[in-house]
Amino acid sequence: MSIELFDIEIGKYKEGVHRIEFEMDSEFFKSYESSCVEDGKVWAELVFDKGAFAIKFDFKIKGEVKRSCDRCLNDLSYPVENTFNLVAKITADIGEDEEHLTYILPNEQWFKAASYFMEMICLSLPIKVVCEDVSQVCDSSMLEKFMEEEEEEIPSQFEKLKNLFKDNKI
Ligand SMILES: [Zn+2]
Repeated sequence: MSIELFDIEIGKYKEGVHRIEFEMDSEFFKSYESSCVEDGKVWAELVFDKGAFAIKFDFKIKGEVKRSCDRCLNDLSYPVENTFNLVAKITADIGEDEEHLTYILPNEQWFKAASYFMEMICLSLPIKVVCEDVSQVCDSSMLEKFMEEEEEEIPSQFEKLKNLFKDNKI
């Protein structure tokens, strides 16, 4: 689903409660160049209650995203689920956005929901994603390879120092 479809023409909706469903898929995730995930399939829902002076938004996501293990680079399907609520005050007196508060100008027609959904995905992932989180085991051959690479780097630093001493450079 293209990212433009997450722009809601809020101006055309009557006062009251409305519900829109979205699908965050490959096409959606490709629109975000640097994000916490590259791919996935996530169902998303936005329920909003439009009033004369404010709109209350309730966001919901549920699905799976593709992430590589931060330890062994295995591809993982990571389950995500999250909710978020936001109040948008309709006013010409625009203040500073807070976590659950934003402002919409009275003549503003559009509300962009994509970045809210994207942030909900990123926030529902741990800082470090590892195989164990999804009942998988890290690829031991990859772990060994990384260990070897680390070990190789240390002696080379020592070598450099040793050579410096040898040449009486320090
Ligand atoms: Zn792993």
